[in-house]
Amino acid sequence: MEETLSIIKPDGVGKKIIGTIFKRFEDAGLEIVNIKRLTLTTEKAGEFYYMHKDRPFYPELVKFMTSGPCVPFVIKGENAILKVRELMGATDPSEADAGTIRADFADSIDKNIIHGSDSKESAEREISFFFD
Ligand code: UDP
Ligand code: MG
Repeated sequence: MEETLSIIKPDGVGKKIIGTIFKRFEDAGLEIVNIKRLTLTTEKAGEFYYMHKDRPFYPELVKFMTSGPCVPFVIKGENAILKVRELMGATDPSEADAGTIRADFADSIDKNIIHGSDSKESAEREISFFFD
């Protein structure tokens, strides 16, 4: 059993697809074990994405992540980290496989609906970033 952290980003909340996204994970046999709804401060969003701080898209990413409420949640299941990444689809929705969340709902690489931890280490860090 694994736990991973996902975030429905402000564009996903704005599109009112929280329930749709939860259903995709539940239908895939995963369990949602913790949920929050909050608006990130610039400081917190910057800290969450610190690994990208030198990338050209970082300032816009932080601005976007603070632009409205987001929904961080914890997903549990066998191989949850990889399964969530597969259900999300590629970072750039134009490259995401058909039927993935990003292919179906994301407008662009910088407004791509959802975050998911990419490794055991980041899952641990990101879960404790939002949940005690
Ligand atoms: N991002 C962006 N432009 C890029 C690459 C990434 O705006 O060229 C944003 C996008 O929101 C992405 C986030 O930065 O989801 C983190 O990038 P990462 O490469 O970790 O992609 P992810 O793990 O979210 O698929
Ligand atoms: Mg990533």
